[in-house]
Amino acid sequence: MANETAPNPVQSGQATTKVYKNFIDGEWVESSTGQTFENRNPADTRDVVGIFQRSGKADVDAAVDAAKRAFAKWRLVPAPRRAEILFRASEMLMDHKEEYSRDMTREMGKVIKETRGDTQEAIDCGYYTAGEGRRLFGPTVPSELPNKFAMAVRQPIGVCGMIAPWNFPMAIPSWKIFPALVSGNTCVIKPAEDTPLSTLNFVRTLSDAGVPKGVINIVSGYGPEAGMPLVEHKDVRAVSFTGSSEVGRLIGETAARSFKHCSLELGGKNPMIVMEDANLDLAIDGGLWGAFGTTGQRCTATSRIILHKSIYKQFVEKFIEKAKKIKVGNGLDESIEMGPAINEKQLKRDFSYIEIGKNEGAKLLSGGNRIEDGDLKYGFFLQPTVFGDVNPKMRIAQEEIFGPVVCMIPCDNLEHGIEIANDIGYGLSSSLYTRDVNRAFAAIRDLDAGITYVNAPTIGAEVHLPFGGVKATGNGHREGGIGAIDFYTEWKSIYIDYSDRLQKAQIDRPE
Ligand code: NAD
Repeated sequence: MANETAPNPVQSGQATTKVYKNFIDGEWVESSTGQTFENRNPADTRDVVGIFQRSGKADVDAAVDAAKRAFAKWRLVPAPRRAEILFRASEMLMDHKEEYSRDMTREMGKVIKETRGDTQEAIDCGYYTAGEGRRLFGPTVPSELPNKFAMAVRQPIGVCGMIAPWNFPMAIPSWKIFPALVSGNTCVIKPAEDTPLSTLNFVRTLSDAGVPKGVINIVSGYGPEAGMPLVEHKDVRAVSFTGSSEVGRLIGETAARSFKHCSLELGGKNPMIVMEDANLDLAIDGGLWGAFGTTGQRCTATSRIILHKSIYKQFVEKFIEKAKKIKVGNGLDESIEMGPAINEKQLKRDFSYIEIGKNEGAKLLSGGNRIEDGDLKYGFFLQPTVFGDVNPKMRIAQEEIFGPVVCMIPCDNLEHGIEIANDIGYGLSSSLYTRDVNRAFAAIRDLDAGITYVNAPTIGAEVHLPFGGVKATGNGHREGGIGAIDFYTEWKSIYIDYSDRLQKAQIDRPE
């Protein structure tokens, strides 16, 4: 397998570094630009994970051409047969789960328990989506006219272009690719430049499982060079993007010019409200997991903890005590609880927001420093950071930091908590801790977000329910569950008249 992707190993430092290629029309090929880029381990930048193709427009054009040709056949493969291949791919991912999870920790720093979860999410998505091969339901309805039959069926769209972020480098591509394929579309994916290997492992598995050549293609490279040509390409009929709201706006505007379907899954600034009747220990553990899991680099990370004023002090004290004990380090060590920032740029962004918070008058209660003990100096490590007495209007409470930085915000009551939670540009996830069912249902109704958890933090989505958010978090589409099938299919309505005479809808009516 390694030889397929590394026919030209190059020497880098002490070890041989693999060179990975693009996968276009069933072949592993070098980029036409002749350029490559390095993928380094953010926990130890001395470790080069691999060399990847720095692709450009010509590579994207070749991949889209292949996908367009493959679409002509793939759309005619019966959906249950397509689904069998996807099921097989999930079984194969299961066989390689440990290897792929370790690759993922190495390329993005997320701790191994969490990367196993990322790979598992792709497997779950495959199993779930394979079931859709025998459903893909559409409505069959009575016609208003006699001897006439009416129904609607789902049809594939064509070539789908996908652009993914680095924080869930196998799970997120799987949310896009599995439903697109089961629906009969073909795909070209551009993975994030920080995590091409995990997405490549996923694509290779699909191919090994029997997805025909040209049906799935991967082109690695940078956003403006390899991502934008995909969005602009006239033969790409649907674009699925997950990433920042800033880039999402650009993608949405570009896709709109050629009337492409476009799904945008963007940023978040997710609130967790804790009421005075909550199980506080449960809420503290949930808050720590929500804020510092994946080093706070989840779109659903708990970045604002809104606390009833009567439990504020008690909660914050215990939270800080536990935050200080979180073991930070190289995620391949099973005992480590939090890994590094993804890259130097993100680390600098984290520190710049810590400065902004201090200057705005928030109290830095814990963390805020880089960790550089021993070999950790070769990585992008930052202490879990907690700000107290945060005013909800401060920038650290309004803007997505995407790091291990959490804001503690006091509130007077549930209504006030919800008002603070909703007073923000984003609307992805939200959570409430309470033992009062009336409060729980009121919050479920009133929190302005695509996801609400009760007595759990803002993270932990499952693949078979819709995933996505409101306001600047997206443009109304959903991944996961049937929402994804809705995105990757077009409706065709069908009327079959077996009356043997001309019948006029809306006009032929009994007097
Ligand atoms: P990003 O927007 O910087 O990059 C995402 C992808 O877009 C990458 O593949 C990148 O190469 C590409 N890209 C960048 N500029 C581009 C351009 N001009 N044209 C075309 N493509 C371009 O985001 P990121 O740093 O990779 O990920 C973090 C962001 O993703 C956060 O804002 C996070 O909240 C969001 N996110 C959202 C979800 C969700 O489902 N809502 C899930 C995960 C991450």
